[in-house]
Amino acid sequence: MDYVVVIPAAGQGKRMQAGKNKQFLMLQGIPLIVHTLRIFEKDDWCSGIILVGNKNELNELEQVVRQYDVQKVQKIVPGGKERQHSVYEGLNAVEGADLVLIHDGARPFVSQESIHQLVRETSVSGAAVLGVPIKDTVKQIKGKKVVKTVDRNSLWAVQTPQAFHLPLILQAHKTAMEKGWLGTDDASLMELVHQGVSIVEGDYLNIKLTTQEDLLFAKAIILEREEQQNNV
Ligand code: C5P
Repeated sequence: MDYVVVIPAAGQGKRMQAGKNKQFLMLQGIPLIVHTLRIFEKDDWCSGIILVGNKNELNELEQVVRQYDVQKVQKIVPGGKERQHSVYEGLNAVEGADLVLIHDGARPFVSQESIHQLVRETSVSGAAVLGVPIKDTVKQIKGKKVVKTVDRNSLWAVQTPQAFHLPLILQAHKTAMEKGWLGTDDASLMELVHQGVSIVEGDYLNIKLTTQEDLLFAKAIILEREEQQNNV
């Protein structure tokens, strides 16, 4: 069940306040983006990686890919202003694949088991996303006032990878571009063109590194995994 993965890594990471693109932050001695790339480098089902970078950082990304010897990167393409634009550029660069995964460069802990469950589901349904039931109680607010409590049982936090048959997601992106829609994830574009999307339960360790405190969790996850490997 081969797939190609598009990895958007062209954001500025302003919320991380690191003074540079968070993809290049060192996590236990290795750049964040390399942690993410290695997940797919190791997965036999992944036949290629399309990396989307900031147009001013393409050389730096290329250097990192070479230095850490990531063999599956087929192309490094320039991204756009918003994540959706970057993904669209990446999707247009995919060749010879029917099934495509889209995965944030800033999510370095997705498990191979989750990826494979997602791919299996997508081969049947055409589109699927990873997600987890939300743990907190969620309230809708207006100004400083609570309007109501939302029923938690029907709410899931959605992650990446998100997986699609390539023609379906390309068409959804094209329609979104034409109509000026901007979504925060790719599945939302499928919803807009009335295509069904399945949800596959992932795990809570598949975090996106967005703000400074996420780095603390990232370090803890890496140390825990190193400890587990040493005990094998
Ligand atoms: O900003 P956020 O962390 O939500 O972005 C998710 C992913 O999308 C990141 O890996 C980021 O680099 C990428 N992105 C992109 N192009 C943009 C904005 C974000 O590739 N214009």
